Amino acid sequence: MSRPDRDLAALAALFNGDREDRFDVVEVFTGEVVARVPRAGPAHVTAAFGRARAAQREWASRPVKERLAVFERFHAALLDHHEEIADVIQVETGKARRMAFEEMCDLPILTSHYLRRAARLLAPRRRPGAIPGVTSAVELRKPLGVVGVISPWNFPFAIAFCDAVPALMAGNAVVVKPDPHTPLSAALGLRLLREAGLPHDLVQLVCDDGPVTGPAVVDAADFVMFTGSLATGRTVAARAAERMVPSCLELGGKNPMIVLPDADLDAVVASAVLGVFGNAGQLCLHMERLLVHAEVHDDFRARFLDRVRRLRLGADYGLETEMGALADAAHLARVSAHVDEAVAAGATLLTGGRARPDLGPTFYEPTVLADVTPAMRVHHEETFGPVACLYRVSGVEEAVRLANDTEYGLNASVWTADPAAAMRIAERLETGHVNINDSAALGYATKSAPSGGAKASGLGVRNGDEGLLKFTYPTTVATLKKQVLGAPPDAPYADFVSRTVTSLRWMRRLRLR
Ligand code: NAD
Repeated sequence: MSRPDRDLAALAALFNGDREDRFDVVEVFTGEVVARVPRAGPAHVTAAFGRARAAQREWASRPVKERLAVFERFHAALLDHHEEIADVIQVETGKARRMAFEEMCDLPILTSHYLRRAARLLAPRRRPGAIPGVTSAVELRKPLGVVGVISPWNFPFAIAFCDAVPALMAGNAVVVKPDPHTPLSAALGLRLLREAGLPHDLVQLVCDDGPVTGPAVVDAADFVMFTGSLATGRTVAARAAERMVPSCLELGGKNPMIVLPDADLDAVVASAVLGVFGNAGQLCLHMERLLVHAEVHDDFRARFLDRVRRLRLGADYGLETEMGALADAAHLARVSAHVDEAVAAGATLLTGGRARPDLGPTFYEPTVLADVTPAMRVHHEETFGPVACLYRVSGVEEAVRLANDTEYGLNASVWTADPAAAMRIAERLETGHVNINDSAALGYATKSAPSGGAKASGLGVRNGDEGLLKFTYPTTVATLKKQVLGAPPDAPYADFVSRTVTSLRWMRRLRLR
C-alpha cells in the first residue's frame, strides 16, 4: 500500500523558523524525504513565545465556557479526521496502522474528560475560613502564562497535545517543541485546533535538534512539560529550576508484568503480545520484564512464543499489520546492541533477535530472551524496542522484589484471578500505574486518575485533576468579616492568651465532630 496523499508541506509551513534553513522529515518505511521543516533557533523561539504571550492575555480573559466551546469542536474534528491523523502519524513514525489509530484515540478520550471536569476545577472554590463565622476564604485558579511542551517521537500526536489541551482550557498559551523526527503530527494537531476556533497565535510550533531548540523553550516558558528520556529530563528539570519555573517530567520505565498461577493464560498471552510489542515496544508504558510464576512458566512460554512468532510485521498503511518499524537507524542499533550483548553474555534467544531490512530500513523482529542476568543492560536499562525478558519466579515475594529492583517506577501489570491478592501486590509495587489483568494501558487510559512515574520515571503527573490544576497557580482570597483578631490594645495580653487557647480547644472539638 503506497504512502497516503496528504499535504505535508502545508503542515511544515505551520512551524516558526528559518524558511531558508530546513531539516528533512522522512517516511520511516522507505527513508524518503516527505517534508522540509524550518529550523528554529533561540531567536525564533523567543519570537514564538512573544506571539503566544500576547495572545494568552485575551484568551485568559474569556469565560471558561467560551474557551471550552473550542474544545467541543476540536473533539468532533479529531473523530472526523481520524484517517488523516493516522496517515500522518504513520508516515513519520513507521508504526502499524492499528497503533496510529489507538494513538489518535487518546486525545478525544482526554478532551472529553476535561470538557466534563474543567469548568468545576477552574471555578472559584469556597474554603472554610480560619475562624468559623468570622473569616471566609475563596481559592482562585489562574493560568501560569505560556507553557512549553517538549514531546518525543513515539506518540507524536497524542503527547504534543495531551498536556496542551488542559493547559489551554486553563487559560494558558502553549509553545510545542516536537521531536525533529516527527514534527508533522504536532502540526496537524495545531491545524485542527485552529480550524476549531482557537485564536491563531495561542499555540506556536518550534523545532530543530533537541539541544538547539529545547533549552530555548525551557528558558522562556512559565511551566515546562517534558516527556522523554531520563537523561534529557534531568537537564530540563535542572534548567527550569534555575529560573524557579515548575516542570513536569514524564520519563521512561522498565516495566514488569507479574503472572500468577491462577491467571487466565489465554488472556495473559493475548494482552502480553500487545503490552510488549505494541508500537514495536516504543511505548513508555510497555512491558519489558515478564515475571512468570514457576507453576505456569513453561506453559506461558510455549503459548507466548507461538503467538509472537506469528505476529504480522509490515511496512504498510493497512489495518491487518500488527507491528511496524523502529523510529530510525540509531534506535535500531541501540535495540540490537541490547539483545546482542545479552546473548553474548549468556542469555538465551527464544525468538527474534534480528533486524529485518527486507521489510524496511528500520525493522526489528519481535524478540524474547531468557536467562537474563543483572549484569546485562537489557535487564536494567530501558530497551524501548520489541524485546521482552522472560523470568521464572518462585512466588509473589520474588516477583515483587524483582519488579521493584529498578531505578524506574512507571508501570506494572499483575495477572491473577484473586482481586484481593492483586490489590495487596499493587500496594507493594513502587510504580505510578498498576494494571490488574491488563498489560499496559488501562491506568493511563483512566483519565480521571493521575498518571505519572514514581522513582526515576518522572516528577508530577498528567491526567486527573492535577493534570489540569498544575497549569494554574492558586490565589487564596481571605476576608475578615469582623474585627476580633489580636489582643485589644487596653486589655492585658495574658487575657488574650487564655481566650485564644480556649477558642483553639473549641475549634478542635468542633472539627473532631
Ligand atoms: P529524548 O529525551 O531524547 O527527547 C525527548 C524530547 O526532548 C525531544 O523533543 C527532543 O528533541 C528533546 N530534547 C533533546 N535534548 C534536549 C535538551 N537538551 N533540552 C531540551 N529538550 C531536548 O527522548 P526520546 O528518545 O525522544 O523519547 C523516548 C523516551 O521518552 C523513552 O525513555 C520513553 O520511555 C519516554 N517517554 C515517556 C512517556 C511518559 O509518559 N512517561 C511517554 C513517551 C515517552
